[in-house]
Amino acid sequence: MPDGSLTSFMASRAEDILSACTSCGACVEACPVVPHAGISDAEPGAVAGGVLQVLRDGGRLDGPAEAWVHQCNGCGECIPACPEGVNPRNMVMLAAGKSAETHSDTPQLFRKMARAIRLMAAMQLAPADLARLLQPPRPRAVPVVFYVGCNAVRTPHLLFNAMYVLDAIEVDYEVLGGPAACCGIIHTKWEGETEAGGRVTDGTLRRFGEFEPERVLSWCPSCQLHIGETVEGYGEAAFAFEHVTRFLVENEGRLRGLYTTEVPMRVLLHAHEGMADLGENVARLLGGVPGLDIAGIAWESGYTCGGSGQDRSPGLKAERRRETYAMARETGAEALVSLYHGCHAQLSAAAETEGPSVVNFTDFLVRALGGEPRQDLLAGWRMAGDWQALAARSMPMLERNAVSVDPDWFASLLPDMLTSREFAGGLDELVRPR
Ligand code: SF4
Ligand code: SF4
Repeated sequence: MPDGSLTSFMASRAEDILSACTSCGACVEACPVVPHAGISDAEPGAVAGGVLQVLRDGGRLDGPAEAWVHQCNGCGECIPACPEGVNPRNMVMLAAGKSAETHSDTPQLFRKMARAIRLMAAMQLAPADLARLLQPPRPRAVPVVFYVGCNAVRTPHLLFNAMYVLDAIEVDYEVLGGPAACCGIIHTKWEGETEAGGRVTDGTLRRFGEFEPERVLSWCPSCQLHIGETVEGYGEAAFAFEHVTRFLVENEGRLRGLYTTEVPMRVLLHAHEGMADLGENVARLLGGVPGLDIAGIAWESGYTCGGSGQDRSPGLKAERRRETYAMARETGAEALVSLYHGCHAQLSAAAETEGPSVVNFTDFLVRALGGEPRQDLLAGWRMAGDWQALAARSMPMLERNAVSVDPDWFASLLPDMLTSREFAGGLDELVRPR
């Protein structure tokens, strides 16, 4: 009997899937990670059956089903393949959470992630900017909440660029984000803590409601997937939850009227077929930037580099990335355009050794509006690669933000923090007492 909790909501979602799914295996056959997960020889129906078994009986995923779920990056190519109208991506997400109840590869992920995010934000931002992203503002009625999620706070320049654009079109909005306003995906999917995940999701939805918004504009693809799909229908919401780029496209006419500055550059847009609307929105926005020459769109089919999906399927990622870089060379693009923080961090880290330079789409909008985009501090720091020096130069900013850490300890963690290693089970230091 549903009791209104996320646990019972997820159980009823699983029941619906169990009664509709016939274990035909069409979703497994359509899935692009299968050849990279070492399960090409497994019988597709049996792989799906292994996932269903965990949904039905609980316990830990194993064998080919485990390999499949582990490498799922959320691309969504399985969705149209299902003849029964099941959303296999949702089935996989639910099974991942169910399995994590028995065994999580990333225990304490939320605590590690929250600490890494706070440290990374505090080393980059002045106190007022840090508070804007991490401290919930006093509730007031506003038409729009800009929901930045947790992990995007690691690359705050993108978020402040987006806010510059919202300010330019005179949107009345408030910002919510940081670990205190997590969407709940970390607890629910990664830690198998559905009850705690329910409390986190409840708290964040309630916070949205306190602003009485008509629309909550999200930035992060993982939040979009979790709130917009995995737990869609859980809790009452009197507002639309949609991606910020959709809102900007709706206001495109207004934006174009405000552009004052040519941005002469030939660029290649990096996009994901699994979140095609987002890529199309950005393509349309870039099309309005005066002087910008869009050489094409590199659709990385089957691969999504969002926070939760990144590096889940390294073989597939390497293949798609090679294609993207080849396209950049063939088209003579001067820069690759990133969509969100996951893409930006990954592509700009890779640009140090291969591929063209990386610019986020928000940079172009700010430039066209006559502004100066916020600097991508991390890219320069990563490039320098001197962790001791970076730790030393970060101390004054950390102190301004009332964060006290040992410089050597901080330096030892920087390489892992800058690559979100906690999602692969690293950064234990962040939860050990010192
Ligand atoms: S979402 Fe993509 S990676 Fe995940 S199961 Fe579906 S097709 Fe495979
Ligand atoms: S989710 Fe759909 S495609 Fe996948 S095994 Fe079940 S019925 Fe077949």
